[in-house]
Amino acid sequence: MDNCIFCKIVAGEIPSTKVYEDDTVLAFNDLDPQAPAHILLIPKNHIGSAGEITPENSAVVAHIFEVAAKLAAEKGFADGFRVVTNCGASAGQSVHHLHFHLLAGRDFTWPPG
Ligand code: 5GP
Ligand code: ZN
Repeated sequence: MDNCIFCKIVAGEIPSTKVYEDDTVLAFNDLDPQAPAHILLIPKNHIGSAGEITPENSAVVAHIFEVAAKLAAEKGFADGFRVVTNCGASAGQSVHHLHFHLLAGRDFTWPPG
């Protein structure tokens, strides 16, 4: 997708600090971390948001959660971690390429603000 920041990160046109990559998923550190560990997990193919997940493209979402579990185990998030996706303006989505925030390293409140 033209003018999509995360597609440009996938293409290597914008630098990122990668923590995991395979054929379909990329994970990299968030530029503005909201916790001691703040990793973004994205499908390499453009999906606009969680609202655009369909039977045709949902396999990568399961794979993203497998990668999240693997990273959490490897990085020792023993006290817990949070995985969240913001969908749409009222939920605070600012980048319109599906991404899951993997946050860890501090306590989190519930419900989120
Ligand atoms: P959202 O607000 O859409 O849920 O999350 C977008 C996230 O992308 C934010 O946490 C923001 O800090 C991060 N972000 C935006 N632009 C960039 C970038 O160019 N590089 C990286 N690594 N993170 C970015
Ligand atoms: Zn994109």
